[in-house]
Amino acid sequence: MFSDPKIILLFVIASINVILGFLVLIRKRRSWVNIFYSLVVFSIALWAIGLSYFIDSIDFVSAILWARIYYIAAAMIAYSFLMFGLLFPYVKMKFIWWKHILILIPFFASCILVFTKYHIEAIFIQPWGKDVILGWGYVVFTVYFLMYMGIGFVSMWKKERESLGIRKMQIKYVLLGTLIAALGGSVFNLFLPLVGNYKFIWLGPLFTFLMAIFISYAIIRYRLMNIRLILSRIVHYIFSFVATFLIVDATLYFFEAFDTNLTNFKSIAISSLFAIFVIILHDPFQKFFGKITSNIFFRGVSDYQNLFKSIGNTISKQVSREGLAYSVSKNLYEELKVDFVKIYIKEEGSNRYKILGSNQESINNNSCIIEKLKSDNRIIITEELELNQNDTPKIDEYQKLEKIVEKLNELKIEFIVPIVIEEKLIAIIALGQKRSNEIFDKEIIEFFDVLSPQIATALEKARLYDESQQFNIKLKSEVDKATSDLVKANIRLKQLDQSKSEFLSIAAHQLRTPLTGIKGYISMFLEGDFGKITDDQRIELEKIYRSSDRLTRLVDVFLNVSRIETGRLDLKKENFDFIKIVEDVVSDLSQQAKKKNLKITIQKPDEEIPKILADKDKIHDVVMNLVDNSIKYTEKGWINIRISKSKSLITLEVEDSGIGISENEIDKLFQKFSRAEAVSRIHTGGSGLGLFIAKKIIETHGGRIWAESEGKDKGSSFTFTLPIQSKINE
Ligand code: ADP
Repeated sequence: MFSDPKIILLFVIASINVILGFLVLIRKRRSWVNIFYSLVVFSIALWAIGLSYFIDSIDFVSAILWARIYYIAAAMIAYSFLMFGLLFPYVKMKFIWWKHILILIPFFASCILVFTKYHIEAIFIQPWGKDVILGWGYVVFTVYFLMYMGIGFVSMWKKERESLGIRKMQIKYVLLGTLIAALGGSVFNLFLPLVGNYKFIWLGPLFTFLMAIFISYAIIRYRLMNIRLILSRIVHYIFSFVATFLIVDATLYFFEAFDTNLTNFKSIAISSLFAIFVIILHDPFQKFFGKITSNIFFRGVSDYQNLFKSIGNTISKQVSREGLAYSVSKNLYEELKVDFVKIYIKEEGSNRYKILGSNQESINNNSCIIEKLKSDNRIIITEELELNQNDTPKIDEYQKLEKIVEKLNELKIEFIVPIVIEEKLIAIIALGQKRSNEIFDKEIIEFFDVLSPQIATALEKARLYDESQQFNIKLKSEVDKATSDLVKANIRLKQLDQSKSEFLSIAAHQLRTPLTGIKGYISMFLEGDFGKITDDQRIELEKIYRSSDRLTRLVDVFLNVSRIETGRLDLKKENFDFIKIVEDVVSDLSQQAKKKNLKITIQKPDEEIPKILADKDKIHDVVMNLVDNSIKYTEKGWINIRISKSKSLITLEVEDSGIGISENEIDKLFQKFSRAEAVSRIHTGGSGLGLFIAKKIIETHGGRIWAESEGKDKGSSFTFTLPIQSKINE
C-alpha cells in the first residue's frame, strides 16, 4: 500500500492534521471553538485516510465503502467548519440547542444520502484508478457542502473585518489557510468529480497542509489558541527525533556498505554503539534543538537574571518613591521590550492608584481590576483572563471577567503585577503588549514573583523616607516660625525692659530730690535751727531721719540697678584708703550689731596697704552691703572681717556665724531679686538687689566676688577681690 507516494503523502497530511487537532484539543477542554476546530482537522484526517484506502482498494465493495467514508468525512468537515466559523474567535455565544439541531439536520441528511445509490451510482476500476458515476444525490451533497463552508467563511470574514490588532491577524491567517484548503479540496474533490474527472482526488487533502502551515503561523506569531508552548515542545522533539534517526540510519548504512552479512553479534555491537552515541549526543542535541525552537517561538526573550540584578541595583540606590518607580519602569521597559511600563502607587489618604509625577493617570480603588488583584493576589495576564472568560460556563462569572478584560483592553494593559505588603495592595505594575507580539510566558511570571516582594519592601521604605522628608519640611517651617516668634518676643521684651529701666531711673531721680530735702529739714530740726525740741520729739525725729536715710539708700539701689541695666554705671575714680572705708562701715553699723550682741572684728594685714584707685562711694556701698547682710543674717555669734593683700589685689572677706546658705542657692544669690527661700520669710524687708549690684560694681572694677557656706546654720563668708590700681574708666 505504502509503495504509492500519493498514499504516503495522504497519510502524512492525515498525521499532521491529527497532531494539530490534538494540540488544540488538549489546550482547552470546554471551549467549543477548540472542539469544532479539532473536529474539522480530525475530519480532514479521516477524509485523507478514506481517500488513500479508496485509491488503494482493488475491489468494488471496499472501494465504495471507503468512498462513502470519505464523503461522510467531507460532510463532517462542512458541518464542523460551519460551527467553527460561527464561534471563532470565542464569540460570546450561548449554545442554542434548537438552532444547532437545525444545522445538524442537513448534515445527517447528507450523511444518509451518501449511503444511497443516488450519491454514487457505480464505480469502475480502471488501470489509472477508479471511475465513479455520481447521481443527483451528489449535487445535493455539493450544495450542502458549499453552503455550509460558505456560511462559515462569511461569518469568519465578517469578524475579521470587525476585529482589531492581534485578533484580526489571527482570524486573517485562519481564514486564509482554510480558504486555500477549501478551494483546493473543492476543485479536485468536488468540481472535477462532478464533471466526471476522478483522477486528481488525491490532490485535495494536500491543500490542508497549507492550512496547517497558516494556522501554525498564526499560533506562533499571533498566539492563536495559546498553544505556542506545546507546539514548540512538539517541534523540538520532532527535530531531535529526526536528527537522531538520521544519525542512526547513516551509521547503519555505513556498516552495511562494508558488511552485507551482519551477524547477530555484530548487530548487537552496532546497536550498543548507537545507544552510546544516542546517550552521549542526546543532551547536546536537546539543547541545540531547544535553542533553535525557542528562537523560532520565543524570539527576544529577556535575560531575566541580569534584569533582576540591574533592578536590584536600582532599588538599592533609590530613596524616593518617585525615583524608584521611574527607574524600575525604565529598566523593565528597556529589557522586556514592551509598549509601556506603568507603576501605579496607592496614594496616601486617597482612593486612587496613581502614576507618580503624572497628574492624570490613575486607577480607582474600586475598579474591577484592583478588586480582582486584591482578591486573587496574583499576576493577571489579560489574554489568559480572556481565555478563562471564554472557558467559564457561569454567566455571572463570565460577565465579571468580561468587565475586567474590557477595562484592561481599554488601558491597553497586557500584564499586571500586584505589589503587596502586609496583605495591602500598595502598588501595581502594568505592562503593555510586547513589541514583538510575543506572549508573556512562565519565565516572566516567575521573574515577577521574585521581584515583586522586593519592589514592595523598597516602595515601603521609600514611603517612610518620603514621609520623614515631609515631616522634616513641616518641622523646619514650624521651627522657623517659632524662632521668628521668639525673635519678635525678644525684641518686644528688650523694649519693655528698656522702658522699665527708664521708668525706674526717672522715678528714682524724682524720689531722691524730695528725700534730700526732707532729710535736710529734719537735720535742721535736730540741730535746733527751728527752736528747742523736747527729748520725745528728738527720739521721733531721729526715727524719721533713719527711715528717710533707709529710703534714700533704697532709691540709690534702684538707681544703681537702672544704671547697670542701661549701661550707665559710671565709675568715678579716686585714690582712697580701703581700710578706712571698712572701718567707717563697721562703725556705722556698730549700733545694729550691738543690738544683736554680735562681735565684729577686723583683721588687717601686717604690711601697709597702699591707697587704692576705684570708685570710693561704690566700693563703700559694696562693703556696707556685705557687712549689713552679715549682721542681718546672723542671730548670734560673731562677724569677722579679713582684709588681705597680694601683689596687685586687695581681698576682703566677711565671715559670720549666721544662718548660712544651702548649696543649691549659693550660685543664685548674685542674681537680680534673688533671695534665699528661708530668708525671704524672716526678713521681709530685703530687696534681693544688694549682691546683684555688688557683683556688677566689683566686676566693673575688674575684680571678683563670691560666697561660700558649709550649709544651713553653718555660717557663711562673702569675699571680693579688687585690683589695687583699677584700670576701669581709663
Ligand atoms: P537682701 O539682703 O536685700 O535680701 P542681697 O542681694 O543683699 O539682698 O542678698 C541676697 C540674699 O543673699 C539674701 O536675701 C540672703 O538670702 C542671702 N545672703 C546675703 N548675705 C548673707 C549672709 N551673710 N548669710 C546668709 N545669707 C545671706
